[in-house]
Amino acid sequence: MDRIVETKLWNVDKNVEDLESCSQVVDAAHLIREGELVAFPTETVYGLGANAFSDEAVEKIYHAKGRPSDNPLIVHIGDMDQLHEVAREVPEMAYPLIERFWPGPLTLLLPKAEKIATQVTKLDTVGVRMPDHPLALALIRAARVPIAAPSANRSGRPSPTMAEHVRQDLDGRIAAILDGGETGVGVESTVLDLTVSPPMILRPGGITREQLHEVLGDVAIDPAFEAKAEHVPRSPGMKYTHYAPQGELWLVDGSPEQAQKKMEELIREAKANGLSTGVLATDETIGAWRKNGLVDAVLSCGSRQDPSSIAQLLYARLREFDDLGIQYMVGETFPKQGLGMAVMNRLEKAAGGRIISV
Ligand code: AMP
Ligand code: MG
Repeated sequence: MDRIVETKLWNVDKNVEDLESCSQVVDAAHLIREGELVAFPTETVYGLGANAFSDEAVEKIYHAKGRPSDNPLIVHIGDMDQLHEVAREVPEMAYPLIERFWPGPLTLLLPKAEKIATQVTKLDTVGVRMPDHPLALALIRAARVPIAAPSANRSGRPSPTMAEHVRQDLDGRIAAILDGGETGVGVESTVLDLTVSPPMILRPGGITREQLHEVLGDVAIDPAFEAKAEHVPRSPGMKYTHYAPQGELWLVDGSPEQAQKKMEELIREAKANGLSTGVLATDETIGAWRKNGLVDAVLSCGSRQDPSSIAQLLYARLREFDDLGIQYMVGETFPKQGLGMAVMNRLEKAAGGRIISV
């Protein structure tokens, strides 16, 4: 990176009234208008924001993250007027979705308005959403421009769910970080293409297929993220390695008893090869791992009964294995229903396709 800056870290209480005029938000909005990068919390993960109308500003996002330049960015809006500055056209079917899911973790792909910087997307479409986080909304409204923002991590690493994760990845590369505490949903937004019929999910995320089905009736899924290698994903970002911890993660799919047996076997093998080992367990299985004392690090990513707890904790746990220097990990799989679909998509990517069925 050519430019080393001093990254400001601003703590903001997201619950105070009139956030828009709080001094850190005003300063951060000023930086956005000046063409600088500011990281901010959303309800999904932390985003790395730039003025969506400025090519020069958006260009900096790719440098800071080391993001491939063909991977388009999602534009975040603070009110409905901004929707029409971002999208050239809003199809009728968008409105019931907006009504039900905005603000929230649903990104709609729409025809792109001319004002949108080319660096945001070189395609004819633009992804747009209204985040459900008071600090994100206050920042966008105070900046008075839509904000293009991918996740605020170095490309390839797990997405940040805390300001500290952003600092670890981007300190010295961006102007400021707004720290609003931990994010809630934990996985990114669902990307839904409304320019095709029926609408198609290009990336599973915080709004589930079942929820979209209730509003739309018919909703298709990009076959590429069912890990079918012969399909090229329609969302450019889906083809890259993502969310990966530094060590090697293997997922084991099967009945609880058989999966446990296989995971123990893999761990024994890794230990015999001199590797430090970890298991990404759940509240249901963590006890057994603690008892058998096989692994160097056991972390639970939540309860199998509550996929939202898994979504919320997943990225932080993957980063913890990195902090502990773990070289080899095994993990459980989850049913691809509800939020489980997004969780499994991220896990499969983090594992780089290393899945064993028993
Ligand atoms: P991130 O910014 O890291 O949350 O990633 C955004 C995701 O949305 C990536 O998978 C992008 O490829 C996808 N995306 C954003 N805009 C578009 C678009 N116009 N067409 C297709 N995919 C998009
Ligand atoms: Mg990302």
